[in-house]
Amino acid sequence: MDKRETGRHRAAAVLVTALLLGVAGVVPGAQGAEAAAKSLILLIGDGMGPQILSIGKIYSEMELNSVLNIERLADKGRTCYASTSSADKLVTDSAASGTAIACGKKTQNGMIGMLPDTTKVDNIFELAVRAGKSVGAVTTTSISHATPACFLAHHPNRSHEWDIAAQVAECDAAVAMGGGSKYFLPPERGGGRRGGDLTETAARAGFEVVYDREAMLASEADRIMGLFAPAHLPYELDRDVETVPSLAEMTAKAVEVLSRNERGFVLMVEGGRIDHAEHENDIVDALGEFMAFDAAVGYALDYQERNSDVTVIVTADHDCGGPAITALKGEYAGYPDIDQYHTLEEETCPVVGWVSGDHTATLVPVFTIGPGEDGFAGIIDNTDIFIHMVEILGLEE
Ligand SMILES: [Zn+2]
Repeated sequence: MDKRETGRHRAAAVLVTALLLGVAGVVPGAQGAEAAAKSLILLIGDGMGPQILSIGKIYSEMELNSVLNIERLADKGRTCYASTSSADKLVTDSAASGTAIACGKKTQNGMIGMLPDTTKVDNIFELAVRAGKSVGAVTTTSISHATPACFLAHHPNRSHEWDIAAQVAECDAAVAMGGGSKYFLPPERGGGRRGGDLTETAARAGFEVVYDREAMLASEADRIMGLFAPAHLPYELDRDVETVPSLAEMTAKAVEVLSRNERGFVLMVEGGRIDHAEHENDIVDALGEFMAFDAAVGYALDYQERNSDVTVIVTADHDCGGPAITALKGEYAGYPDIDQYHTLEEETCPVVGWVSGDHTATLVPVFTIGPGEDGFAGIIDNTDIFIHMVEILGLEE
């Protein structure tokens, strides 16, 4: 079975998993419509510009005969667009855009939770913890990578993941799950960290540290750290489903843990590797990552439908690559099987064209459902997402 074929079946399995989780994984919570939300789930598709969303919608309809969870959410909630430029670049990176969303401030590309002059700025997690809420982050990248780092740490340089991991090990979050075990574990335990074992630091801080899917599902701890790969998790299409949890499974576990707090929670879920596949102009893995992210959105949407005091926001930090289904030499595609889509180099029709192997300045979509959803209208800036989240949760800056 070639990778495309595998991808088709795996993407269908992801959807089925999401449907099952929607039935079995729901945690009961407080009911009743209030002006402000008690809890918030923010899902960030790294690199999920409108183009990969368009291809995902076509794939879902034509190949799976199914509607995207993002589309289900959009049908019931609100949709707007956000600009993403950073303090010093028209085209942002994930650190500056993560800081804009997490902290409401523009900074330079590469900087985590700081102004350009390296002044630390509070993020939404810190404000929520001060209000007595629980917070958590899950991602398919290493947990010390740029986007989760903006919620869990402060650093002038995103590439210093050894330092960022040390901050994650001592953070106030109740949930921190993804990859990146090499930044935490010493060489004698298979990692690359010199001068200490950060999992011991995390354990002393109250975390149960788990390394595979089974241990994550079995955990009953009130604080959980999941390190499921040395660096980033494998692409969804390459994932060992027995040992590495899906993004939807991590999301369900995070909600299970965080929702034990009666004062509410804030959860950040990142589909972190849509971007990585787009940098490689790899449409098959980009689609696989997108569908895994959409399954996590499905879990969050189902949870919101049962808990009306929860707001769900789905957005992207930036577009990457600008993929589009297009014509080749004037020949437009009919309605072929998705397996017949190729890259431009393959010189056959239909094709997926890419404008680059880097990020773009294209506006990103923002989908919202729950209390405060009406604030997300028109074309906003990514810093407005933070401002709206603070208002919706009634937090004090
Ligand atoms: Zn990128």
